[in-house]
Amino acid sequence: MTEDSKWMAFALELANEAGQSGEVPVGAVVVRNGVVVGKGRNGPVGHTDPTAHAELLALRDAAHNIGNYRLEDCTLYVTLEPCTMCAGAILNSRISRLVFGASEPKTGAAGSVHNVFLHTTINHQTSVLGGVMAEESKQLLQQFFKPKRMNLNPLREDALRPHDEWFEGLPDYPWRANYLSDVPELNGLRMHYLDEASTAEKNDQLTYLCLHGNPAWSYLYRKMIPTFVAAGHRVVAPDLIGFGKSDKFKKANQHSFEFHRNVLLAFIEKLNLEKVVLVVQDWGGILGLTLPMAMPNRFVGLLVMNTTITTGETPLSDGFISWRAWCKDNPDFDVGKLFARGNKHMSPEETHAYNRPFTDKGHRAALHAFPPMVPEHLNSPGADISRQAAAFWRNDWQGQSMMAIGLQDPVLGEPIMRNLQRNIRNCPEPMLLPQAGHFVQEHGQSIAEAAVQLFKVPHS
Ligand SMILES: [Zn+2]
Repeated sequence: MTEDSKWMAFALELANEAGQSGEVPVGAVVVRNGVVVGKGRNGPVGHTDPTAHAELLALRDAAHNIGNYRLEDCTLYVTLEPCTMCAGAILNSRISRLVFGASEPKTGAAGSVHNVFLHTTINHQTSVLGGVMAEESKQLLQQFFKPKRMNLNPLREDALRPHDEWFEGLPDYPWRANYLSDVPELNGLRMHYLDEASTAEKNDQLTYLCLHGNPAWSYLYRKMIPTFVAAGHRVVAPDLIGFGKSDKFKKANQHSFEFHRNVLLAFIEKLNLEKVVLVVQDWGGILGLTLPMAMPNRFVGLLVMNTTITTGETPLSDGFISWRAWCKDNPDFDVGKLFARGNKHMSPEETHAYNRPFTDKGHRAALHAFPPMVPEHLNSPGADISRQAAAFWRNDWQGQSMMAIGLQDPVLGEPIMRNLQRNIRNCPEPMLLPQAGHFVQEHGQSIAEAAVQLFKVPHS
């Protein structure tokens, strides 16, 4: 170990101590004639002092110990490239040599952002050496910033987490990621959701709660969200567990109707959503239409697109049975292609966005789980609660309703939707979209525009 490494190791110990006490881990020592004459560890929080950087504290300590404010013939070792303030102090103290560890690309004043030591007119005494034990210093800093983010949401053993980089550069999806995990119903899983335009003043704002189905995610609502937000409303759009940016079960049999319904109920309670317009399509409706009866006071409106309530009382449609069989025969089907088939106007990037949550094949369990999970018989899981829901919409629903139908949908198209319309109290004549297929939201802008005209904030 070189002389420089020896003293840098000492400074790293001080950095570590700083980190232990909750400060950004930076340490510094002043050495003269092979002896430590000053020590400092970063401490703005503990000292309630914005200038309490490791270097300044080490310089003060050294001057005090030596009994001289000039630190000629001294070397300052610091684990991180000094900021402008510390660089100035180092020059003023006439330190003869500066040795630092990791570079600081955002604030470094010894070459990274600028170089205070280059100005020969003010600096005729300090030589500079960077990069000594830089890796160790960097690791300390990374460890310090990392655990706080990770420990909040540890990943369950039987689950997978999609990688952030899978979702980089998505077209028309600029929204911030939000995560929920601290409700018992999620049992440690991390659920992603969009939450746009939430304001403290909730009285004049509706919340559009947008629920996607299989095999989609919140990306499906990108053409509707801007219209809702522009009209002054809040939009909340979760990704179901197994989809989008949410955690994924490893196995299909971990999914159940009841699990997803309970998670959605807990989600609404935890976010305390009020004056909700429920926006549903596909599984977003199969699950979502069972929610308002459990918390009717939270809901004021329903925007329902190509979906159904599956009570087990009538046979599943031929269209659905074909779809279910096709999924079984094609377990690795290309999700993006499925969306593109009925939406020729989508760009290749938009198409690919639907594949991104399933970048690794192991993440596809929900795709296998959902089609067989549609309640088929009277005693299928979810059928009973769906019958209660059907009765609620027929008899008890007090809110406003709007229906939009993509007419090209072979599975949940106009016949099924007309049937649903008759089962929703006061549901007006639907908006028909001749060019839209099952994924109606890909033509969603005109639907959203009609919705913001229709749904009004109730005055309490
Ligand atoms: Zn500093």
